[in-house]
Amino acid sequence: MTAYDAVIIGAGHNGLACAAHLAKRGWSVGVFEGAERPGGAVKTLELTAPGFRHDFAAMNLSLFAGSAFNRAYGADLAAAGLAFAPVSDCFASIFPDGRWLGVSTDAAVTRRRIAAVSQADAQAWEALLAAFPGRAAHLFALLGAPMKKRAIARVLFGVLRAEGLSGTLDLLRFLLQSPRAWLDETFESAEVKALLAAWGMHLDFAPDIAGGALFPYLEGMANQSFGMVLGQGGADTMITALVGVAKGAGAVIECGAPVERVDASAGAAGAVVLKDGRRIAARKAVIASVAPKSLASLLPSGTGNARFDRGMRQFRHAPGTLMIHLALDGLPDWPDPELRRFAYVHVAPSLDVMVRAYADASAGLLPAEPVIVVGQPTAVDPTRAPPGKHVLWLQVRMAPGEIRGDAAGAIAGRDWQAAKEPFADRAVALVERYAPGLSSKIIARRVVSPIDLERDNPNLVGGDQICGSHHLAQNFLFRPVAGAADWRTPVKNLYLTGAATWPGAGVGAGSGYMLARQLAGG
Ligand SMILES: Cc1cc2nc3c(=O)[nH]c(=O)nc-3n(C[C@H](O)[C@H](O)[C@H](O)COP(=O)(O)OP(=O)(O)OC[C@H]3O[C@@H](n4cnc5c(N)ncnc54)[C@H](O)[C@@H]3O)c2cc1C
Repeated sequence: MTAYDAVIIGAGHNGLACAAHLAKRGWSVGVFEGAERPGGAVKTLELTAPGFRHDFAAMNLSLFAGSAFNRAYGADLAAAGLAFAPVSDCFASIFPDGRWLGVSTDAAVTRRRIAAVSQADAQAWEALLAAFPGRAAHLFALLGAPMKKRAIARVLFGVLRAEGLSGTLDLLRFLLQSPRAWLDETFESAEVKALLAAWGMHLDFAPDIAGGALFPYLEGMANQSFGMVLGQGGADTMITALVGVAKGAGAVIECGAPVERVDASAGAAGAVVLKDGRRIAARKAVIASVAPKSLASLLPSGTGNARFDRGMRQFRHAPGTLMIHLALDGLPDWPDPELRRFAYVHVAPSLDVMVRAYADASAGLLPAEPVIVVGQPTAVDPTRAPPGKHVLWLQVRMAPGEIRGDAAGAIAGRDWQAAKEPFADRAVALVERYAPGLSSKIIARRVVSPIDLERDNPNLVGGDQICGSHHLAQNFLFRPVAGAADWRTPVKNLYLTGAATWPGAGVGAGSGYMLARQLAGG
């Protein structure tokens, strides 16, 4: 029987980062991936027409570029081919009257744009930016710390020492705030608030959800301070490099090899059984990068801890995403050609539109006016399309996993096979309202429904792109469930990793790397 020190289930970037570090520390590692290729939610494929390379899911690699894993292994990753495409015109929002606001790395340019809508907000932006390095140190320390008593105490002590009691209370209060509560007390203009609140919708923080202020704040400040990065040639540059580093250190990665069961019969996780019947032994650890609900099928008789098993079953997913990939003759004709330079243009014109889209999707309705993240990767990296052509990456937020109705009363289909094209038509028409003539530029289109996302990667339950709600009751110490935020499970030698676990979704590799360090040191 084949045996490794660690058997990792799933070759998403967390599984791969974990594999790379363990292998570098001398562990023998086998990674088993159900899909035909590694990457999970990070893949770049010719989805529409030859020569047009589309990021199937994740496009923005800023979290990875700034990650502790990349700090430790950046040189190895670069040697294995990792290349970033830096973005200086990061994100913008467009409004119904054709005005827009955007954040570019040139702070004076951003300031001028904000000042055109509100002098007070331009000053507020400047003040936030000046305070960012101090606050970021605390926030990144928290987000990069394992959720263990000692690590949390160290972060808290650092904040108390630097900020005093009142500063610490301010920070804690901020962490609890909704996007709207924080935006209302910080800015006056509806446009600046919408510009930032759109980032909450990348997770599942509609404007009124407690705990959501952090993300608009961090994205605003981090993009302003450091810019954004995409993958050169496609987001999969990161996966190719991770695979190279892991394999270079001796890890074995097998794709098309779904894991069906974890064998914990001897009182500890000692092996996995693949769908093809092979049994792979794990001497020290089985590490599952799966959605919590899948644990029940991997361990049919449970972990032996009813509270933990109930937590896994009750793990809450966020509403889904529908993706539209377009091959285009030219970038959209936005009212201002400057918008063609931005990596992201958010079609999320007000907090109220965001609230309604989230409420519709949560109620099982196709939103009448969805929020759309228009990604323009070829504005930054033209190598992804034939000369003069472009790809467009439309992330339609939010969409229900199961359709109970249409908030606009126009789409009759109640399953995604029937509803995905008409709903995509609605989204494209919405973008076209802001960029007339878009349809006439489309060479080819591919729509990926929430269910298609899940079919491609079982962790994206109902098309939930973040593998589990990040609301406060399921984040920090409670991710994926209270008492298990340190990736351990009640079964000896069985660990969880991935977006469902701390520190959550995104391509920051935090979960896989922190767990690997916990297991192997370093
Ligand atoms: C549409 C979309 C857009 C996104 N955009 C961004 C973005 O721009 N920037 C960003 O930072 N984040 C983005 N995200 C989120 C980010 O991509 C994910 O949070 C992250 O990639 C998750 O990585 P992971 O390694 O935890 O898991 P995943 O990437 O989900 O990988 C898990 C892997 O495990 C495999 N697996 C599961 N069960 C089994 C089994 N039983 N046997 C074998 N294999 C199994 C799956 O097939 C999958 O390959 C996006 C996500 C989506 C879906």
